[in-house]
Amino acid sequence: MVYKVTLIPGDGIGPEVISAAKKCISATGVKIYWEEVIAGETAIKEFGTPLPEVVLDSIRRNRVALKGPITTPVGTGFRSVNVSLRQELDLFACVRPCKLYPGVRTFYKEKNIDLVIIRENSEDLYAGIEFAEGEKETKKIIRIIEKLSKRKIRPDSGISIKPISYSASARIVRFAFEYALKNNRKKVTCVHKANIMKFTDGLFLETAEKIAEEYKGKLEFETVIVDNLAMQLVQKPENFDVLVLPNLYGDIISDLCAGLVGGLGMAPGANFGEGIALFEPVHGSAPKYTGQNRVNPVATILSGVLMLRYLGEIKAAESLENAVVRVIKEGKFVTYDLKPSRTDPTAVGTVEMAEAICQEIIL
Ligand code: NAD
Repeated sequence: MVYKVTLIPGDGIGPEVISAAKKCISATGVKIYWEEVIAGETAIKEFGTPLPEVVLDSIRRNRVALKGPITTPVGTGFRSVNVSLRQELDLFACVRPCKLYPGVRTFYKEKNIDLVIIRENSEDLYAGIEFAEGEKETKKIIRIIEKLSKRKIRPDSGISIKPISYSASARIVRFAFEYALKNNRKKVTCVHKANIMKFTDGLFLETAEKIAEEYKGKLEFETVIVDNLAMQLVQKPENFDVLVLPNLYGDIISDLCAGLVGGLGMAPGANFGEGIALFEPVHGSAPKYTGQNRVNPVATILSGVLMLRYLGEIKAAESLENAVVRVIKEGKFVTYDLKPSRTDPTAVGTVEMAEAICQEIIL
């Protein structure tokens, strides 16, 4: 069988890490026809938009995509391609496993860290509903809010709207519980700041508590305030299993957790909608490393492992993950971020590390 998958190389270091992942996936023997399309800075040059319709069409048709990071140009008026893709395709669930592999440079060598972040992807402060300081509409909104809430807002304020709905909260919490069951996880932790934002985070929390009732006896459930979670993750990350969070906290906590398990070079990710999935590393396009054959390809290769599992290619996924584990454990053919010091002269490049991983695949 040949799978058809949309491939978006992305910007900056994207093409390098995507090429590495493609090579490793191909070395597992799984046959994939890659339908390559461009998005981001290269697409602006060719199509005048960072997200051409052909990209969305291709993903809608193939239902599976592997994507490199995309630069969000600052001050050009273009919205983030990543946020647009998630909204256009209704990729409502972002899944980011954070697992500590032996041999990784980290302060947490003795800990057994193996947690999964499930981030709501469609609303919250990421909805992109913003009003700039000084604009006519902003002043109008300030007047309306002041009238309705009987509270003062400084006239020189910008405004961002944070919508959190019952339906989107229920959908992501249910997804988290189902994910936990399918993946033999034990506990779901709902993360919020409901003590301060009673009608948004409060609704998220209430919804989670209600849905948790349906899973009583099957899975443990707990709730935690996001600032306290940040502290606990730094002190005892081994206590957490599946975390479900609204969009913005999910974004921030993902990077914190990547830091626990060796940095952004080690953090894979996936975005799921109904019957559609897009796999991508957590990291961005790291422009200063573009074309240098320097960055760690593992985040993208492990995103490929998630993709193989999604396609039902469980054996290939395991072989590839085990190959990554062996190469990191040996510590010889690894990039600078996995060496004891960042300036270690024995660090290899992106291409060489991917080749070492291919060599270690046992079929
Ligand atoms: P970044 O993740 O690109 O890089 C931050 C730093 O992390 C790098 O300088 C590097 O030291 C390290 N790093 C990242 N990836 C690495 C890897 N594979 N191996 C080793 N080290 C790695 O974050 P940024 O600099 O804040 O963002 C750059 C651009 O990427 C921005 O335009 C941003 O909007 C975009 N971005 C895109 C995505 C996405 O496409 N999903 C995600 C995050 C950021």
